[in-house]
Amino acid sequence: MERDDFLDALAERLGERGLLREADEMARYVADWAGDRLGMPRAVARPASTEEVVETVRLCREHGVAMVPQGGHSGLVGGALPAAEGNELIVSLERMNRIRAIDPINFTMTVDAGCILENVKQAAAEHECEFPLALGAQGSCQIGGNIATNAGGLNVLRYGMMRQLVLGLEVVLPDGRLWNGLNALHKDNRGYALHQLFLGSEGTLGIVTGAVLKLSPRANQARTALLGVPSLEAVIALYGLARRDCSDLLSAFELIPRRCIELAMEATPALSDPLDQPYPWYVLMEISASGPLDLTALLEHLLEQGMARELVLDGALATSEAQSRQLWQFRESMLEGQRRRGEHLRTDISVPISAIPAFFDAASRSVMEASPDCEIIAYGHIGDGNLHFNILPPPAMPEADKREHLHALEARLFDVLDEFNGSISAEHGIGRVKQPAYLARLSPVERELAEGIKALFDPDGLMNPGRILPPRH
Ligand SMILES: Cc1cc2nc3c(=O)[nH]c(=O)nc-3n(C[C@H](O)[C@H](O)[C@H](O)COP(=O)(O)OP(=O)(O)OC[C@H]3O[C@@H](n4cnc5c(N)ncnc54)[C@H](O)[C@@H]3O)c2cc1C
Repeated sequence: MERDDFLDALAERLGERGLLREADEMARYVADWAGDRLGMPRAVARPASTEEVVETVRLCREHGVAMVPQGGHSGLVGGALPAAEGNELIVSLERMNRIRAIDPINFTMTVDAGCILENVKQAAAEHECEFPLALGAQGSCQIGGNIATNAGGLNVLRYGMMRQLVLGLEVVLPDGRLWNGLNALHKDNRGYALHQLFLGSEGTLGIVTGAVLKLSPRANQARTALLGVPSLEAVIALYGLARRDCSDLLSAFELIPRRCIELAMEATPALSDPLDQPYPWYVLMEISASGPLDLTALLEHLLEQGMARELVLDGALATSEAQSRQLWQFRESMLEGQRRRGEHLRTDISVPISAIPAFFDAASRSVMEASPDCEIIAYGHIGDGNLHFNILPPPAMPEADKREHLHALEARLFDVLDEFNGSISAEHGIGRVKQPAYLARLSPVERELAEGIKALFDPDGLMNPGRILPPRH
């Protein structure tokens, strides 16, 4: 092994398990989730405590080494992926996975940032509480990564995004100072809400080492339904009706196009067509509650109303947990079906909920005009105005041309989005992948403020440089 004063000093502080330097040991930290992109870190630091994170950051600052905080590496915009030049140190939080405390009366829990989301949810459930963040990557993503990306997921319409689910934070700042902001207060108006700055900051302002999370009572009953719906306009009208008629107990309201039902059945042959005949759109909805409420009556009433107004044409209601899981399997399997189609454009955009039908029409027109043989697959979290407006390239297109073609279609899509005052990133963040589109849409005032915040926290530009904002030279 080559002599490297910085890494030797780091190894001394973190111990043998705390630092990986060989290419084969680092392999699982260097490819992103989709396997599309590869990076090359200088090494991977695996601190086991907040104190070790402090020591790591101080040493990086002393030696001028750039750091990349890494959680479960499920992010989709290259934020936790090290640069290819081999100069960045990955700081993985994976060994910091302790549930520090649970207070079921205050409805809070305090956790290490490296806790895997699934484990946090499980620990909350053991105390009759619920940590409601739910997303496809929950078996591998970490709370620190969820905070840094302000993650959302399936239940945002009821419980909000991470921003609404975090009360306090512990953060190691880029100069090695430790900020203990582990408040467990539900109301606190003392000046600026500093912790909120770290939500969605994508590791550019500091390394989150601990968090106080807000819990809800654990839902002890849920009803799921998959409904056939005639149009996007009907989907939106049904959403408004469902929130009102179900006493605002909606916990999920997912839009699924017919094509995705087919993709799900392709990916999971055990699934069969859920309704007697195909419909252009489907809604997968769930209502849930704790306490003695008659959810079946609420749902049946909604469906009667929906059918009377021709918003719902047919539906399958789950009457057991197993049936509910089967309905959710359509939502999960359609992603795999889509992945099997090869390279495609994935987006995570948002518009006001009421504008979804008009946006979908305008965006589809614009994309099809430029590429009549491509295929649009749009689904999403209707209650958040969040669409995954994805595009498969024309099947006959040579592989080598696909990426550029999809990039051009993305630009058209984003132009339409601008007309609707939408967001180019409702979920995944900016990272490196979306930086050009993000910067092109920042006003001079917004850019000045964003650069000012970055400079205040990280004057040396060592904390996840080049993510969200370009690196300073
Ligand atoms: C199958 C799948 C489904 C998904 N579904 C959703 C969804 O429904 N909703 C949604 O919002 N997102 C979704 N995502 C993307 C989402 O961003 C991540 O799953 C998750 O929030 C990232 O957590 P992670 O621990 O994997 O972070 P990583 O990928 O490791 O990192 C993401 C960013 O956070 C930073 N970071 C990580 N840990 C820390 C820390 N401790 N301190 C400071 N910065 C840190 C990194 O530097 C990077 O910039 C999905 C991803 C996949 C693969």
